[in-house]
Amino acid sequence: MRPVCEHCNKALPNDSGEAMICAYDCTFCRTCVETILKNKCPNCGGTFEKRPVKKTTS
Ligand SMILES: [Zn+2]
Ligand SMILES: [Zn+2]
Repeated sequence: MRPVCEHCNKALPNDSGEAMICAYDCTFCRTCVETILKNKCPNCGGTFEKRPVKKTTS
């Protein structure tokens, strides 16, 4: 799981509600997906969905 947006390098920690992933786990922030990528992955052409928020159990 990538910790940053591949487009703008915005930090996307595991508990970030802004992280979006495509079917191949390309990771972008919601702002880039909605305003720049138009919900189409520039790497593989897939669409995005919200990355599930993972709680870290330590
Ligand atoms: Zn971004
Ligand atoms: Zn992709």
